[in-house]
Amino acid sequence: MNSTVYVDNNATTAVAPEVTEAMLPYFTEHWGNPSSMHTFGGHVKRALDAAREKVAALIGAEHPSEIIFTSCGSESNNMAILGAVDAMGGHPHVITTRVEHAAVLGPCHYLEDKGFRVSTLDVDEKGRLDIERIREESMAGKKTVASIMWANNETGVIFPVPEVGAVIKEGGGIYHTDAVQVAGKLPVNVKEIPVDLLSISGHKLHAPKGIGALYVRRGTKLTPQIMGGHQERGRRAGTENTPYIVGLGKACELAMQTMDKDAAHERRLRDRLEAGILATCKGARVNGDTEHRLPNTTNISFEYVEGEAILLMLDDVGICASTGSACASGSLEPSHVLRAMDVPRALLHGSIRFSLSRYNTDADIDDVLEKLPVIIDRLRELSPFVKD
Ligand code: PLP
Repeated sequence: MNSTVYVDNNATTAVAPEVTEAMLPYFTEHWGNPSSMHTFGGHVKRALDAAREKVAALIGAEHPSEIIFTSCGSESNNMAILGAVDAMGGHPHVITTRVEHAAVLGPCHYLEDKGFRVSTLDVDEKGRLDIERIREESMAGKKTVASIMWANNETGVIFPVPEVGAVIKEGGGIYHTDAVQVAGKLPVNVKEIPVDLLSISGHKLHAPKGIGALYVRRGTKLTPQIMGGHQERGRRAGTENTPYIVGLGKACELAMQTMDKDAAHERRLRDRLEAGILATCKGARVNGDTEHRLPNTTNISFEYVEGEAILLMLDDVGICASTGSACASGSLEPSHVLRAMDVPRALLHGSIRFSLSRYNTDADIDDVLEKLPVIIDRLRELSPFVKD
């Protein structure tokens, strides 16, 4: 696997060596239960508190108690939406967008099936939101719970969260944002933006898979989704996953130290990659708003070729990327994000997402730029739709 080029960091990231090192003692020496009254539990409890402080610091939360540890970003999203809707009572109006992650769309569809009014807002051809539409929906009279993401995992397009939050708050609603792709990549300061609930996932910022967090602004009412224990102040029952929580804390601490440097590094590599692909691959087009975009992501469609075929051929030459389309039960379903953006048919099935991390190098980009144009040429030769 040594020669593998990994450019799929929005799917998951490598665990940072510093994170693994911080976690190890919590498997070997400090395996106590943080709720235990004895010394053995006390040490672990202090590590848990320290990790909570680090997560709070990464997003500028005023009180560490505003952080609830969860098992993943998906749990954080479900907890935020279902918990806020339940706590609000009286069938609030739910507002979301067509380009959210499945872990937001899933609970929203569930609520719709239960008879809630759910407005799923469109985006334009660049994946941008219409703030006026959000205003209309949030002023429509009913109490609202809105779940509108910060940055899109497929295209990297960033939504104007401060403006979205202001509009939702104007209407008296509760605002949740899925910040899974933002936390650790860009500065987040919940003191300055009107969000009530914000989701984080460990494995997108060099902590392991299976740990997440939900920021809950003080005073926000939330019904627990896992009941039966006093942990997390009664908001999420279950003995805490201490090694992973320590790992998430360490990853947040590292992100705070290296975020600016990492973002500049990733942006430079991403821009080199993108410019190189556009210059050398026929029929290539970038999807989404390139002005408001994560520094590490580019989503590129290749006209008249299948994304899955590109991916498999890239994989054969040691390059791991991702496609916007999901191959579900034998049928090729184009990405719901690209469909929401009305990406033309000829480009819809041929999208590839390249997402970088602090560990990518110029040599990785050279490798992709050397191998990808050959693959695209070969696939275009085989395509019945290509005329040139
Ligand atoms: N939200 C977004 C935007 C994501 O990209 C992901 C993961 O791909 C999730 C939520 C789910 O996070 P997790 O894998 O930790 O459940």
